[in-house]
Amino acid sequence: MSIKKGIFLIGAALLATTGTQAASSPWEKYKTPVTSAPEAIGKYANGCLVGGVPVPTEGPGYQVVRLARTRNYAHPEMRDFLMDLGQKVERNNLGLMLVADVAMPRGGRFTKGHRSHQTGLDADIWLRLNAPQLPVSKRQKMYDVKAVLMVDRDKFKVNREWGNKQGQMIKLAAKDKRVARIFVHPAIKQELCETAGDTDRDWLRTVRPWYGHDSHFHVRMHCQGNDCVAQNPPPAGDGCGKELKSWFPKPKPKTKPKPAVKKPKPKPVKKKPYVPPPPPPRCQMVLKDKFKLQPAAYAAAAKKVKPQVSAKAQVSAKPKARIYARGDVAAKSTAKPAVSTLSTSLTASGSSRSGSVLPSQVNRSQPKIDEKTKQQVIAANKLQIELAQQRRAKAIAEQERQRLARERLAAKAGNDDTADSADSTRRQSLRLLPPR
Ligand SMILES: [Zn+2]
Repeated sequence: MSIKKGIFLIGAALLATTGTQAASSPWEKYKTPVTSAPEAIGKYANGCLVGGVPVPTEGPGYQVVRLARTRNYAHPEMRDFLMDLGQKVERNNLGLMLVADVAMPRGGRFTKGHRSHQTGLDADIWLRLNAPQLPVSKRQKMYDVKAVLMVDRDKFKVNREWGNKQGQMIKLAAKDKRVARIFVHPAIKQELCETAGDTDRDWLRTVRPWYGHDSHFHVRMHCQGNDCVAQNPPPAGDGCGKELKSWFPKPKPKTKPKPAVKKPKPKPVKKKPYVPPPPPPRCQMVLKDKFKLQPAAYAAAAKKVKPQVSAKAQVSAKPKARIYARGDVAAKSTAKPAVSTLSTSLTASGSSRSGSVLPSQVNRSQPKIDEKTKQQVIAANKLQIELAQQRRAKAIAEQERQRLARERLAAKAGNDDTADSADSTRRQSLRLLPPR
């Protein structure tokens, strides 16, 4: 009974923590694209993608990570850009480019995380270039390959992980005429401004500062299709002056003498939950499965990209030791609890049926088993199931706790990738947050 009670309590606690989450986005259920002529519909942060194509999981100079998320769908313009950039990265001996989230098969809003990435025209590319080439099976989950932080968030400067190669990769991307904007952490933009030299600086205009973006950079392509809402081009100039400075924390005023009387603590202001705007009408048609399809046009656009096998694409069976992003404490403790094979197979068969199923699990070639032994085996198995369930519930609760902790950290760092609405609005709201 006590075990059951424990399980119930853990379950209730879990419900309580997840109950406050926003409703999950309907776009996340789609695992296939809309088979029509490719179009990015709506805004980068409120739209959808029809005719989306998957970015091949690897190619010369690049590999896609976190594949289990099915977020490697793109407008063909973005797919081609990513494949081209990979080749440039390889040709320049910069290392291996890691492509993370692009968009879901039909684009659209995410339940949490990115606010843009909705039209197949936004992609995250990690700054890390030294990851080994890995088989697809080792690039599925969140932490199969680690991102590497390249900014000292306290000093607001690039750290020792940053190097010339990262700068070259961003420059190669920014010089591509298909790219509208690139977002990087202000400290990275500062570093690029300082190291760009005097003659070749036009590309810096495309690279815009944005908090977060300190282990990856975000590439945004120009609008594609008649229903795509473009952003104004970035202001003229390299963006290295006053505007960039405004992103940096102001020096703290010298310590004031302590006030004699303690001020009462101000009441915490409750933040209004973000209510996303309704998607554009044609995206709503996608949601209702009423979008007029053009399968022939899709087939032409999605025509299979020949997987080009890179000379360097020697897939090593044994991945090198994992590299943890600095300060990434949560990542180190995500190991699943060990559940014995017996418990796993038994749990899978369902506890309600366990009484009748379990005796059949006893080896049939064995001679008759007396009733007492049979009962003992059943009891032992039941206990195994309960213990396994308990461990699983605990592990889920722990994962949820870590996820919330990570979310809090990400929110602090302004890491949610909004990167769409007017730059200044977002900046002003974020400037209030400590730069961590
Ligand atoms: Zn992004």
